[in-house]
Amino acid sequence: MTDTPVPSTATSAPLRILITGSAGFVGSHLVERFLNEGHSVIGVDNYISGQVSNTDLFVGHPRFTFIEADVSHGIPYEGETLDWVMHFASPASPPHYQQFPVETLMVGAQGTQNGLELAHAHGAGFFLASTSEVYGDPHVHPQPETYWGNVNPIGVRSCYDEAKRYAEAITMAYHRSRGVNTRIIRIFNTYGPRMRPDDGRVITNFVHQAMRGEPLTVYGDGSQTRSFQYIDDLVEGISRLMAALYHEPVNLGNPVEFTMLELVEAIEDVLVRRMSVEHRELPQDDPKQRQPDITVAKCVLKWTPQIELKTGLDLMLQRDAANR
Ligand code: NAD
Ligand code: UDP
Repeated sequence: MTDTPVPSTATSAPLRILITGSAGFVGSHLVERFLNEGHSVIGVDNYISGQVSNTDLFVGHPRFTFIEADVSHGIPYEGETLDWVMHFASPASPPHYQQFPVETLMVGAQGTQNGLELAHAHGAGFFLASTSEVYGDPHVHPQPETYWGNVNPIGVRSCYDEAKRYAEAITMAYHRSRGVNTRIIRIFNTYGPRMRPDDGRVITNFVHQAMRGEPLTVYGDGSQTRSFQYIDDLVEGISRLMAALYHEPVNLGNPVEFTMLELVEAIEDVLVRRMSVEHRELPQDDPKQRQPDITVAKCVLKWTPQIELKTGLDLMLQRDAANR
C-alpha cells in the first residue's frame, strides 16, 4: 500500500494529474489551480454537461492536454506515469442528471472503476468527487460523515445518489483490497464562475434570472435549506486532502445554512435591488435541509471555508462578467 506522506500540490515537485470532468465547473478550476502550481494536467471530458469554453481556457498551455472521451467506456490515456487520477466526471445538477439517468449511473459506476484501474496500473493516487447527496433527505442535522443517509433508492434523484454511494463503496474496496491510495470528498452545494448558465441549479438560475430582470423561481415555499460553498474554498480543501493520508470520506462545504428565501435576499443585497419571486412546484424528493458537519475537515486538513455567501456571489458575478 502506498501509505507514505504526500507533499501538497503547492509544494511538491511537478506532478502529472489526470482529471475526468475537466470541462465542468469544478474540474476547470482544478485544472487552473494545478497548472498555476506547475503541474501537468490531462483533462478528459465528453461534454455531456460541460462546456467547450472551459477547455478552451487551457488549450495551448504547454502542460495541458485534453482527451475527449466518455470515461464510462474507458479512459484512453497512454502517456507517461500518472501521479493522480481525479474522478470529477458526472452530471451534477438535478435537471442534468435526471435528463441522463443511465449515463449518470454509468459514470458513477464504470467511470469510477475505470479511474481506479488506471490509478492502480500507474501506482497513482485516486481522488473521488462524491456528494452531500449520499445523505439524501437527511434525518441527522448537520450531517457528519458517520451518518449513513436517507436515500430513496428508486426515486428520480437515485441515479445520482446511488451512483455516488456505489462510487464510494468501490473506492473503499480498491483501497482496502488492492492498496490504491484513495481519497473521497463529499461536496456540498458549490458555486462560482464558469457554471453553465442553463445548468438549472439554484444559484445559476437566480443569478441569471436576476440579470435578465425576471422573477426568481423559488421551488415550494422556499423554506428548504442549503449551505453554499464558494469554489475557491472547495479547491483549497481538495488540495489539502491530496496531501493528507486520510482515506475515509471528508465533507467539504460551508456550514452556514440558508433557506431559498434567504438566498433571494442575499442576491438582492449583492445586486442592490429588490427581486420579485415566482413560486414553482417543489421537485420530487427535494431534500428539506442540508448542512455539513466539517469537524473532520477542520481537524485533518486544518481547513475552514473563508468566503461567505455575499462575497462569493459578488466574485462570481465579477469573474463571469470579466470572462464574457
Ligand atoms: P459539471 O456538470 O459542471 O461538470 C461535470 C463534468 O463531467 C462535465 O464537464 C461533463 O461533461 C463531464 N462528464 C460527465 N459524464 C462524463 C463521462 N461519462 N465521461 C467524460 N466526462 C463526463 O458539474 P460540477 O459541478 O463541476 O461537478 C463536478 C463533480 O463534483 C461531479 O462529480 C459532481 O457530482 C461533484 N459535485 C459537485 C457539486 C457542486 O455543487 N458543484 C456538489 C456535489 C458534488
Ligand atoms: N431551487 C429553487 N429554484 C430554482 C432551482 C432550485 O428554489 O430555480 C431549489 C431546489 O428545489 C432545492 C435547492 O434550490 O431545494 C437547491 O437546488 P440545486 O438544484 O441547486 O441543488 P440540490 O437540490 O442538488 O442541492
